[in-house]
Amino acid sequence: MNTSLRRIGVVGGGRMGAGIAEVCARAGLDTVVCEADATAAHAARDRVTASLARAVEKGRLDRASAEDALDRLAFTGSLDELADRHLVIEAVVENPEVKTEVFAALDKIVEDPGAILATNTSSIPVMRLGMATRRADRVVGLHFFNPVPVLPLVEVVASLHTAPQTVTAVEDFAAALGKSVVRSKDRAGFVVNALLVPYLLSAVRMAESGFATAADVDAAMELGCAHPTGPLKLADLIGLDTVASIAESLYEEFKEPLYAPPPLLQRMVQAGLLGRKTGRGFHVYD
Ligand code: NAD
Repeated sequence: MNTSLRRIGVVGGGRMGAGIAEVCARAGLDTVVCEADATAAHAARDRVTASLARAVEKGRLDRASAEDALDRLAFTGSLDELADRHLVIEAVVENPEVKTEVFAALDKIVEDPGAILATNTSSIPVMRLGMATRRADRVVGLHFFNPVPVLPLVEVVASLHTAPQTVTAVEDFAAALGKSVVRSKDRAGFVVNALLVPYLLSAVRMAESGFATAADVDAAMELGCAHPTGPLKLADLIGLDTVASIAESLYEEFKEPLYAPPPLLQRMVQAGLLGRKTGRGFHVYD
């Protein structure tokens, strides 16, 4: 394996952190997941175990490899357990204060001065997290996509302080996980969300103005453009609260009207109609 980063830490074992830990362990890397406390660490272990079982069920992974992956994983409620890591990937909640605290703490705990601290943030500037440490040259964005074991892309985001060697090291690491990399500047949305979110917002505006129904907007893009999922179904899948908060970050950064969350989206979020996860968004789910 062509990566020098062999002992991995993941902070946050939610949807993304559990997926990142799973792909690291499946690639043969010793991986420690740190959650907020011991109970949350237990839940993270259950998440990874269930995902590995699904991969076996679907024939994407054999049983022995799933067991080997689990053996390479450890779960903890204490950041101190990450002291000997070569690379720590932060995937806690999308809250700048919480993330800044995690980076400041990791900077003190992770012993190897050459170790790299990465963030899976979707919208917080990598620079802001780097400046919470004394090693901004070894802080980088590694933005995975959901579900991590399935989607092959990782966006690598260098801040103005990130060293070229840091970028090369995490690109080799991503390749060792079997992922493909695109590089992005440290700008809100990176490449994918900066293109995807305005498209989703245009679909919301279309339904909002009565230009076409939600069902017809989705059918148009699925049948007319061969998109696997129409934009409003995709927004429901991502979560309308997540779409709205990424739109707000983009709008705050660029001040372009195309990024402004439309009133209908904001009202749906206020109403708790968040898409698939609440059973109703632009469509209704059982
Ligand atoms: P999530 O809410 O599923 O998971 C976050 C986890 O972080 C929770 O399990 C929580 O207990 C844990 N946590 C909170 N504070 C912590 C702390 N101080 N120490 C350790 N653990 C802590 O969220 P998610 O969807 O996995 O998102 C995580 C990050 O990934 C966010 O920055 C998000 O923007 C980014 N992201 C999400 C997606 C997506 O589609 N969900 C895609 C790409 C990137």
